[in-house]
Amino acid sequence: MKNLNFTCPFCSLLCDDIQLEVKENTLKPLNSKCSILINSLKKKINEQFSIINGKKKNISQAINELSFLIKKSKSTLFAGMGTDIKGTRAALDIIDKYKCIIDHFSSDTYVKNLKSMQETGGFFLTLSELKNRSDTIIIFQTSDDVLPRLFEKYIFSKDTINNLKKRKVVFIGSKVPQFLYKNKKLINVEIIKLDSINLLNFISSIRKSINSKDSEAKDKKIFNLIELLKKTKYGSILWSISELQGDVSDLIVNEINLLIQDLNKFTRFSGLSLSGSDHILTVNEVLLWQTGFPIRTSFANGFPIHDIEQFSTKKLLDNKEVDLAIWINSFNEKKIIINKKIKNVLIGIPNHPQKNDVDIFIPVGTPGLDHNSHLLRVDKVVTMPLKKVRNISLQSVEQVLNKVKKGIVNSDN
Ligand code: SF4
Repeated sequence: MKNLNFTCPFCSLLCDDIQLEVKENTLKPLNSKCSILINSLKKKINEQFSIINGKKKNISQAINELSFLIKKSKSTLFAGMGTDIKGTRAALDIIDKYKCIIDHFSSDTYVKNLKSMQETGGFFLTLSELKNRSDTIIIFQTSDDVLPRLFEKYIFSKDTINNLKKRKVVFIGSKVPQFLYKNKKLINVEIIKLDSINLLNFISSIRKSINSKDSEAKDKKIFNLIELLKKTKYGSILWSISELQGDVSDLIVNEINLLIQDLNKFTRFSGLSLSGSDHILTVNEVLLWQTGFPIRTSFANGFPIHDIEQFSTKKLLDNKEVDLAIWINSFNEKKIIINKKIKNVLIGIPNHPQKNDVDIFIPVGTPGLDHNSHLLRVDKVVTMPLKKVRNISLQSVEQVLNKVKKGIVNSDN
């Protein structure tokens, strides 16, 4: 038995302060009660077989079969894309060469942020600024489901470099985070309960009052909030687009980005979208480095074409616009969409509940548990190195895809 310092790969907060007890590949966190971390480490790996058409096979057979399917396919989609930097690079090698399309589990919400950024621009916040400098933090509908330790580590942290004592936190939304409920007596927070429609009107009213010299807000909550914003020296705004009502979420994000711009006319404010689930930020960033285009890009014409609507996984599968879907998820058991009229492949963790429902299943290890890795943190300014802590000989997505690529090349010769 030994204790290790551990960087957690299970959400894009990438907490690097975890103490882990390791006993014969059983991993137990000693200093964190994060539910995602505890549940992720609890899972036992009982078998590691590859599966082809419902039958257990060895991994080389499954890799060869996948190489054959890619070679035969007229249009292949890489979906899910729950992987790290090296896994994304290996996927892109195949996607580019064999004219495939790439999308991600979290694109539906992420592209709304992307669209807003393309239209309005943005002022970006780092977690370090949030923790150490922000005297005012406005949180628009962000629970602690996606990044469970955000509140504990960065918003109500006991120690900040600048020793910030008087921090004002205002939560505006309908679903109040568990952390705020549980710690109500210990922390200084104001809660304004609003659903998404009222939230949109609320933000628009704040902007109207800020931009109009003559009109003073009549609503007391808006008036008080504007007074607070005027006094702020280093402000932060957080939001989580996946937790806003779908039909107005893009409008709300636009209004938030415009509000941040308005505030910067007289003080300093920046924003952080907390939409980076399943490490979409890592995948998107690698795509940008290598191709100049973000997620939902097709290489079918021999060059990248980005289209948010056209290359959505659901649309491509519903309309049978691809004949092969290769799902990748090395972190968790998230449900995948299976269209039985096309070929479906899953490169996933060994316990995935849908492994018998696809044509080919290839088990892989989790970055930061079964192999060394790099992932991007939610604020995109830090690439975190993660170290292997478990020894159960599962290959990485990168290793599997490199062998798949080799298999296609060999069958060409
Ligand atoms: S908040 Fe995220 S990174 Fe931190 S311990 Fe929980 S799941 Fe892991």
